Amino acid sequence: MSKIAFIGLGNMGGPMAANLLKAGHQVTVFDLVPAAVKQLTDAGAASAPSAKEAAANVDVVITMLPAGKHVEMVYLGEEGLLNTVAPGTILLDSSTIDATTARKVASAANEKGVAVMDTPVSGGVAAAAAGTLSFMCGGSEEVFSQAKIILEAMGKNIFYAGDHGAGQVAKVCNNMLLSVLMVGTSEALRLGVDNGLDPTKLSDIMLASSGRNWTLEVYNPYPGVMENAPASNDYQPGFMVDLMCKDLGLAMDTAVESKSATPMGSMARSLYAAHASKGNGQKDFSSIIELLGK
Ligand code: NAD
Repeated sequence: MSKIAFIGLGNMGGPMAANLLKAGHQVTVFDLVPAAVKQLTDAGAASAPSAKEAAANVDVVITMLPAGKHVEMVYLGEEGLLNTVAPGTILLDSSTIDATTARKVASAANEKGVAVMDTPVSGGVAAAAAGTLSFMCGGSEEVFSQAKIILEAMGKNIFYAGDHGAGQVAKVCNNMLLSVLMVGTSEALRLGVDNGLDPTKLSDIMLASSGRNWTLEVYNPYPGVMENAPASNDYQPGFMVDLMCKDLGLAMDTAVESKSATPMGSMARSLYAAHASKGNGQKDFSSIIELLGK
């Protein structure tokens, strides 16, 4: 059992912290929103009045924050975690942020002799609640082997991706590919239906042919083809278009930084941005099929 501080108790962080409690860890929590803190203290966590105080005298700190600017605010500066945690504390940032900020935090941590690792997740709120997230980790292998034991209480696949920032890069590569697959699957289904095919029959044909991919297997975007997919429930719940836009923005930033050509990712980003601007930001990302016509 470890002493863990958990900072950022939103849609993802709340259930993740709850799973650490269920696994028997001693958890101290902090969030700017008192109601989010109360849910965890009701479940048996201790709370602290600030991130700094939550992170004092623990073995591991986990942060699950909205974006890079929040991570910088919590980690860097006079009162930031890097300046205030006890020697030997391991800091794991599971937020999805740009790799540049992850590397900046890692280099500041290195100067202070503090162990950090980027540990973003794949899997949405349901996977966070079920403890079946995938973690993609960037940092030293030594820290990874220590972190893995903790992360296993919240996830079922814990990957070591490489050096600092590699977890964030792996995450945006995966989500960029997912967006491209979803757009491609949507336009293929639309083309078939526009030419008189039944979407279920076409899906079965493509599943048994070379167009087979994850979106056809478990997340068909055409309403009514797959009973449990968000498409059959008015695109609720699921992985929101706004979050896909965020991740595609990070993928594009990463591509600019490394001078990589990502024409399909760039096209998918534009399509998702157009879809979000029509008021669809809160729908599941498979609703992109609606942008392609009725
Ligand atoms: P969220 O907005 O629901 O939660 C973020 C929490 O951080 C909020 O409770 C907020 O009050 C808290 N917070 C912000 N600044 C803080 C600070 N300075 N100190 C303490 N707490 C602070 O977001 P979420 O959906 O839980 O996502 C968290 C991260 O996980 C994001 O980076 C997101 O991209 C990523 N992610 C989300 C999903 C998903 O399906 N929701 C899936 C995978 C990854």
